[in-house]
Amino acid sequence: MTQNLSINADRLYKSLDTLGAIGRYHDARLELYGVNRLALTAGDAEGRRHVVEKMRALGLTVTIDRIGNVYARRRGHDDTLRPVMIGSHIDSVPTAGRFDGCLGVLGGLEIVAALNDAGFTTRRPLVVAFFTDEEGCRFGTDMLGSAVATGRIALDAAYGLKDRDGFLVRDELAKIGFLGDANEHLTAPPHAYVECHIEQGPILRAKGVDIGVVEGVQAISWHEVTIVGKSAHAGTTPMNLRADAGVAAARINLKLREMIASGAYGAEMRATMGAITPSPGLVNIVPGRVVASVDLRNPDDAAMKRAEADIITFYGDVARDERVEVTWRQTARTPVVPFSKSVQARVAAAAARRGLSSAAIISGAGHDAQEMAHITTAGMVFVPGEYDGISHNPREFSTREQCANGVNVLFDVALSFADEGGAP
Ligand SMILES: [Zn+2]
Repeated sequence: MTQNLSINADRLYKSLDTLGAIGRYHDARLELYGVNRLALTAGDAEGRRHVVEKMRALGLTVTIDRIGNVYARRRGHDDTLRPVMIGSHIDSVPTAGRFDGCLGVLGGLEIVAALNDAGFTTRRPLVVAFFTDEEGCRFGTDMLGSAVATGRIALDAAYGLKDRDGFLVRDELAKIGFLGDANEHLTAPPHAYVECHIEQGPILRAKGVDIGVVEGVQAISWHEVTIVGKSAHAGTTPMNLRADAGVAAARINLKLREMIASGAYGAEMRATMGAITPSPGLVNIVPGRVVASVDLRNPDDAAMKRAEADIITFYGDVARDERVEVTWRQTARTPVVPFSKSVQARVAAAAARRGLSSAAIISGAGHDAQEMAHITTAGMVFVPGEYDGISHNPREFSTREQCANGVNVLFDVALSFADEGGAP
């Protein structure tokens, strides 16, 4: 029986430290080290090489596809059966901690290491995967690699995405040596996909719960809004003759806050204008142009659609009022994605068996698992984070025990799927 297998918590935690030292930078204000492994940069490349080396050292067969996703396969007893896949990402936002994504990937490799130690071969093969550019910070589209693998985004569209400096995804993949030749489509989807991730929010920690049983991911909608007014002298241009793109952006930001306060889009709606870039961006010049981002989240698809329609109407209103031109484009859009009930039940059962408390939770962030949910039975395990679950920040922190608990539950769930027979 396999139920008594557990991972080595120290080894897992140490591997998080080791990967976290790659792309490390010192945050002077926080007096902490953070991680910067922005997708397809030199830091990401070094992280990728480190993890691939680890995969090979564990005896796994590594495949790299045409969008740079990396799959490491361990043989099963019934090796023709479709594998159980464990995955996440190792790219990061520019101001990250050590846990986001890495826990899922290194957790998968720790499971393989524990199976190797025990000399245990699962019935189905196991695959540990990391996907390209989950964060979307550099090329503007999150879950890029998993979305290409599952067919939501075409390879050519992904290749054509550019960063701020005009560098293309395809060229950057080639530059870092991760433009693979394997088919980017998971044409034979895995039997199941499971992912362990830090919650990136305060809920589990506040409730004192060990394990989050993730019910699904809320809808996400990103707009890039470009506002064009007229640059003018701040001292000589009368207020009534201005076309101030900065004011227009501020009004959109405030409108978002009013929409939330209205309650008309549900109590769980969230809206953020996280990037506001005025041009020319000088103290004594009315900004003639602003590029701003709008990030909307909602666990209810219908409410999300109403919110999108209303903010788009407001772009037109503000353009008229402020005598500016407002154009926008959708840079990301994913609907509510429910996770498999079967995965949820297994996560809860595994937690209970291990004497851990668990609670159902909706993911506030996007994850590769939501892409995989379109092609197979998929779900997630969340672990709590300290400091209100702060994430995308060097203070991001989950304890050794929190991490080990999550990966042990992931282990049980992966093994239960890996033991299933049935069609290949
Ligand atoms: Zn993540």
